[in-house]
Amino acid sequence: MEERMRQSAKMEAVGRLTAGIAHDFNNLLTVVLGNLESARRQSAVATTERAQALDNATRGARRAAVLTERLLAFARQKPLEPVLIDVNEIVLSMSDLLQRTLGESINVRTVLDPEAWNIETDPTELEAAILNLAVNARDAMPDGGELVIETSNVELEAAYAAANADVTTGPNVMIAVSDTGTGMTADVLKKVFEPFFTTKPDGRGTGLGLSQVYGFVKQTGGHLKLYSEPGLGTTAKIYFPRASKTPRSPKADGPKKLDHVP
Ligand code: ADP
Repeated sequence: MEERMRQSAKMEAVGRLTAGIAHDFNNLLTVVLGNLESARRQSAVATTERAQALDNATRGARRAAVLTERLLAFARQKPLEPVLIDVNEIVLSMSDLLQRTLGESINVRTVLDPEAWNIETDPTELEAAILNLAVNARDAMPDGGELVIETSNVELEAAYAAANADVTTGPNVMIAVSDTGTGMTADVLKKVFEPFFTTKPDGRGTGLGLSQVYGFVKQTGGHLKLYSEPGLGTTAKIYFPRASKTPRSPKADGPKKLDHVP
């Protein structure tokens, strides 16, 4: 519990710090990018080296722009706009985009429970969370592999709630994102929700992805749990409380699977 509070306080501090600098920094980067683009167009006599340098500068500036964009989104902690959502529809609508983003060496598969109940959350944020998990999965599978996104109704037991903070016992809807990648050691797994924690080399990681997903899930009253085995892969399970509204499908008769404490 104390650990969670410490993490919340840390995220708040990060939010305050970044909100101030990120906006102005992003404006400056817009200027840099605009001018580089202009220089590229005008320098008809540019040597290959010069073109290469310009390319590098552009790439670097773009990367910084992505980082500040993420910092801003993180710092804003904008209020969610929850609506009633069909989780299967969201996952299906993303599968093509995910397959293209992850490339040919990774097979994207969906396993959807046709009777999965609706949930109430912000669809844009949910998509961003799934994308975050999928990009992490891709990075963990440099030699290819499989990404599976699964939906199901899950009854969370009291024992599970006792062992895990932020859990709503009873009927939940689970979205699980699994990969067959490198997995994580217990040491890494302990730190993954900390803002700015990354193991990705050469500045490729920001360490903000999972802390963002964690924050979003918590804001919706849901629960995020990671399971990982070095050499085998990782599964991220997001549990959302089932929406109290009637499910879409008249066949749906409530949760049927049990999720056990690992
Ligand atoms: P980033 O992706 O920028 O590093 P994240 O917060 O998304 O930031 O992830 C933090 C770290 O957690 C990653 O650097 C990586 O070590 C680990 N990680 C996250 N997802 C996975 C995964 N699916 N497989 C293996 N390691 C992962």
